[in-house]
Amino acid sequence: MRRFYLIALLLIGSLLLVGFLTSQAHYAVTSHRQTAEAVLRDYADLASSEFVRRTLTEVGYYGYYPLTTAFRAWNRENPDAPVVPPADLPMEEERAPARELARHLFRFDGGDASLESSAPNLGAAVSQELVRRLGQSVAEAPNDGSYVSLFAEIDGEMRSFVYSMANPSEEPPRHLIGFEVDLSILGSWIERAVGRGPLLPPALADGELGNDSIFLEVTLGEDDTLFRMGEPYEPWFGVEQPFGDSYRGVLEEITVRLAIDPEVAPQLVIGGLPRSRLPLLLGVLGVVAGLILIAILQLRRERALIKLRSDFVSRVSHELRTPLTQIRMFAETLLLGRMRTPGDSRRALEIIDRESRRLSHLVENVLQFSRSEHDSVQLALEPRLLAPLLEELVDEFNPLLDSGEVSIVTRLDDNPRVTVDEDAMRQIVLNLLENAVKYGPPRQEVQLGASRANGRIQLWVDDEGPGIRTADRERIWEPFQRVAPDPGSALTGTGIGLSVVRDLVARHGGTTWVEDGRRGGARFVVELPIGGAEGAEAAG
Ligand code: ADP
Repeated sequence: MRRFYLIALLLIGSLLLVGFLTSQAHYAVTSHRQTAEAVLRDYADLASSEFVRRTLTEVGYYGYYPLTTAFRAWNRENPDAPVVPPADLPMEEERAPARELARHLFRFDGGDASLESSAPNLGAAVSQELVRRLGQSVAEAPNDGSYVSLFAEIDGEMRSFVYSMANPSEEPPRHLIGFEVDLSILGSWIERAVGRGPLLPPALADGELGNDSIFLEVTLGEDDTLFRMGEPYEPWFGVEQPFGDSYRGVLEEITVRLAIDPEVAPQLVIGGLPRSRLPLLLGVLGVVAGLILIAILQLRRERALIKLRSDFVSRVSHELRTPLTQIRMFAETLLLGRMRTPGDSRRALEIIDRESRRLSHLVENVLQFSRSEHDSVQLALEPRLLAPLLEELVDEFNPLLDSGEVSIVTRLDDNPRVTVDEDAMRQIVLNLLENAVKYGPPRQEVQLGASRANGRIQLWVDDEGPGIRTADRERIWEPFQRVAPDPGSALTGTGIGLSVVRDLVARHGGTTWVEDGRRGGARFVVELPIGGAEGAEAAG
């Protein structure tokens, strides 16, 4: 008993341990993954800062700055000429590509708030907005020759302007020169900036990580995409960085989204991005729990079996005691010469005979059971005609009956030759008859029959007893299983009779079952193969 609880405790303990280890393993993987994700985001941040720096250099130093300088120089020399279109602005050969960044050039006079543009029809909304914004800021224009960037949403469209003082030494500032940025060209300038080399520092991953492992998207305002490289990665471990006021807000309204391909994580982080092992771990945990459950159930069955066995020992002792007491009592009475009439003496001898036969049968059952438990049953198979064999067995059984009130009737429709072990047949038939008598009423007719079915021979014992509930019909064939007819029943038994029957029948290649009897009781059926080639021979 204690051992059972101890083992169950050990099993449950190991289950808890496995559960704990599972959760630890899961935690380890999760925290490694979080670290790896954080590293990927940090590197994305690094690459995005490099991108911002590079783009601003490209656009600022190779674009806006030379363009402003060239326009200022031209303006100084041609203060009264109409503003030329960007393409006509004289510029050094290598600086000339900057001209494509300008949609038009303009000149602003803060004194009378007049605007002059190279665009023939700038549109009233644009020039009004430009005049208003330039008028507000002309007084604070930087006087070091640098330029100022201005973003304005006009008629639902984001537009970008760059202006600078026409003459940095003018005091207070009054004249401005500038241009509107052609935002559709900006994308190719960004592309050129990206193309100048890997955005990730070459020291990482031995310089093997190029920009093809990077997703990059540059948007203006809410959702106007200026430039895009690759496809957004899933899962997303990236950053979103507005250019904001870096470099005096040159690209203020522009935002960059950048992420590193999770596939290259192993090159950046030792162990890469570990995949979640949770399903596997839960699977293992489930299997262990299942195994432990099976072990505990098995243990419980084992325990129940041990109890049944110990009950069995006391049941057998009890069964032995009753006939032994009778034998001793009548033997003593005879020895002391206390029998009054020769008839009494004969009856006493008959009882002694009957009880000792019962004893033998009981002992034979126990021995047979033990032999089948050890699998040491030896059958001596011989061809026998069935009918005379059964008649013989009934004759052997009759003396075991208490009184003449139960009658055993044989109904042999057929008499095939069967190949059987005679002792085994005795055990089988006697056990079934004994049960029919024991569990049936005191006055009844027990029928023993044999008939042919499906090319096999069926022996059956049919009684007038209570029958067997359907739920118990399988169970009763198992060793030690007894079904008390009613709780207070005085009917005793060892619980091995039917298991011996089933075992012996199976060793003959047959099967056993119980069904409803034809007269209200139970019908126990033993189905045997018909032995020998001359199987169907009839009795003479
Ligand atoms: P035992 O008779 O020693 O209990 P058995 O293995 O012979 O053991 O039978 C198992 C159980 O099957 C019995 O306890 C009894 O409940 C039930 N049983 C057997 N034969 C009959 C029968 N003819 N009628 C009703 N119940 C029976």
